[in-house]
Formats: sequence, structure tokens, C-alpha cells
Amino acid sequence: MPIQSKLPEVGTTIFTVMSALANEHGAINLSQGFPDYPCDAGLLDALNRAAQAGYNQYAPMAGLPALRAAIAAKLALQHGISVDAETEITVTAGATQALFTAIATVLHAGDEAILLDPSYDSYAPSILAQGAKPVHIALSAPDFAVDWALVEAAVTPHTRLILINNPNNPSTSVFSSADLDALAAIAERHDLLVLADEVYEHLVFDGQQHHSVLAHPALRARSFATYSFGKTFHATGWKIGYCVAPAALTSEFRKIHQFLVFAVNSPAQHAIAAHLAEPAHWQGLSAFFQRKRDLLAPGLQAAGFTLLPSAGTYFQLADYSAIRDDLDDVAFARWLCIEHGVASIPVSVFYRQAPAQKLVRFCFAKQEQTLQAASERLQVLHS
Ligand code: PMP
Ligand code: GLN
Repeated sequence: MPIQSKLPEVGTTIFTVMSALANEHGAINLSQGFPDYPCDAGLLDALNRAAQAGYNQYAPMAGLPALRAAIAAKLALQHGISVDAETEITVTAGATQALFTAIATVLHAGDEAILLDPSYDSYAPSILAQGAKPVHIALSAPDFAVDWALVEAAVTPHTRLILINNPNNPSTSVFSSADLDALAAIAERHDLLVLADEVYEHLVFDGQQHHSVLAHPALRARSFATYSFGKTFHATGWKIGYCVAPAALTSEFRKIHQFLVFAVNSPAQHAIAAHLAEPAHWQGLSAFFQRKRDLLAPGLQAAGFTLLPSAGTYFQLADYSAIRDDLDDVAFARWLCIEHGVASIPVSVFYRQAPAQKLVRFCFAKQEQTLQAASERLQVLHS
């Protein structure tokens, strides 16, 4: 018997589609964002030790106390803030679940949430699944700057939430402290909540700084902030992250969390708790990824791409109009993958209504030899 779809316009996520196409055609996969190098051997040992030690039953619902304490200690060191591990931190099955749970916690049917496009592909469907309405504001290349007056103009009596992603996937842009002040002013004036996806907090380049909502007192009071150990520890397959929010918000968040997943993978939480306690394991990531960014860039430029500045995340946006101006970005990404053996992600899929841009996204969280091999394959494009 057919059911009425909650997401009639949603197909399979572009990351699955492009990774499958890359595998099918033996392409170098610079599409879906994940490292192709191993994570830290110490982290793997810690996982093994935890499993061997018998931590194989349910973890506490909100997350292992030792992991929540390690997260609170990290936030204190990073931002000089005090976060209550007991009442304000929840360990989740990746940032995706944290985002979905926060959205389900806040939005009722008929509510509106403001999204800044390009926006990560899980946001709008998570809003729609609640019977709520995503209100999209399109930002354009090359700088994807936010006109906060436009954001405020999109607020209606139904608006409950503004979502931000800083640093942004896929635009790679990074908010200034003035951006956060403008956001806070709007949120306060209209009594809105904020959902800040900060999974790329440690990947900010060229000496810029990440400005977290957690370090902004007005935003801290009305935000859910989400994080992913998959990004920070090069282990996307572990699917562990966390959400930080004031106690009253966290209490409601956990009501949903407990029936969505109940608790998160126990041995991995033990392993991460030990690993996180050592700041050297999460500091220095910007330099690590900036080197990779700078390794891929010349190959893309030599192939005929015009590169946009990559300020953060582990992605590089590239304008391909000098190579195949006749193709839209979805067709170009398919062509590049099938004909030239390098997979990328078309940027228009992150928009409700994409501006006239010819952009694809390349992931540079790859070994040096992978980036070099991709560059070599692309050189034939240069005419
Ligand atoms: N938000 C953004 C912006 C992302 O790029 C990703 C993908 N890594 C996620 C959330 C999801 O993170 P996770 O894999 O921890 O669910
Ligand atoms: N966040 C990753 C990206 O942007 C993909 C994660 C996923 O495949 N769900 O490429």
C-alpha cells in the first residue's frame, strides 16, 4: 500500500550518488567529504582497548560522562567558557543526528526556519520532516556574504529558528565576529533560536579565526551548536558528534534523542574521551589541511578551473566555465567523473534556487598522492 511521502522532492543524497558514480567509473573520489588516509593509530588502539575491556553494552543516554567531561574541558580551553557536562552536552550519532534532533526539538508543524543557501543537504529535509517550512536565502559566489537585513526581512511570526553553518560547506566561507553580532541582534529582536553547525570549527585557513556561537554570550544563550568527531579525528565512519545547548534546550533535545538513538556507540566514546583529552590531537588541523588545499590548487588552476578562495572546511570550490561552459554543474560533475576520472560535487544541489554559477566542489582531505593523481588526470582539460 503506497504511503504519502513526507519528502516527495527528495531523492538520494548527492554524496551517495557521486561516490557510487566514482566507484562505478574508477574515478578518484574528491566528491563526498571523507579522508582517504588512516586515523591516528593511538585512537584505534584506544578503541580496541575499550572493546577488549568489555565496554560493549549501552552507554548512558546522554553520552559517556568521561567523554562529556573531556568535551567540557576542550571548550574551556578553546573558548574560555564554562559548559556544564551534565546538563548542556549530549553525545550524538554524528552531527547529522544532532542537527535532526535539534530541528525536531524546536520545530512544530507550520513553523519556519531560515536557511542560508548553499546549505548542507540534510537541513531542509530535516525541517520538512517536521511539517515545518525551510525559508531559503541564497548567497552568491565569490564571497557568499550574508546581507543580514535580508535575513531579518525573511523573519515572519512563524519563524522559530535560524540555521548557520560556520565554516560553511560547501561555500567554505567563514563568519566574522560582526556576522555573529548581526545574527545575535536578529535572534534577540525576534526571539529566535539558532542552530549552529560548527563541524569544521578546526579547519579555518590563512590565520583567520573561527568565531563560535558558544563564545558569543547572547548566542550561547539561544543556540544549539553541533560538532562531529568524524571531521576532527579523520574518522567519518565512526559517526559520533555532540550537541551543546543551554540546559533548558538540552533537556528537550534529550527527549527526542533518547527515542531516536537512545545512546551512542560505547567503545568509540571511550576511545574518543581519551583521545580528546590531549589538545595536540585537535589543534593544528588548520595547518594540516591548508597544506592539502595548497597542494590541490595549482593542479586545478592549470587544468583551467578558476578557484574561489577556500577560507575553511576541507573543500575547494572551482568555477569550470572556461572548461565546459555549455554544461550545468550536475552535468559537468558527471562528465568530469565519467570522462576524466575525477569525482566532484555540483554546488547547485545545495540551493533551493541556485544563482547562475558554474561551480563544483572538490574535497582535499586526501593523501598527497591522491591529490597529485587527480591533478595529473585533469591536465588534459587544459586546451
Ligand atoms: N554538517 C556539515 C556541514 C557536514 O559537512 C557534515 C558532513 N560531514 C555533517 C554536518 C555531518 O556530520 P556527521 O558525519 O558527523 O554526521
Ligand atoms: N559531509 C560530507 C560532505 O559534505 C558528506 C557526508 C555524507 O555523505 N552524508 O561531503
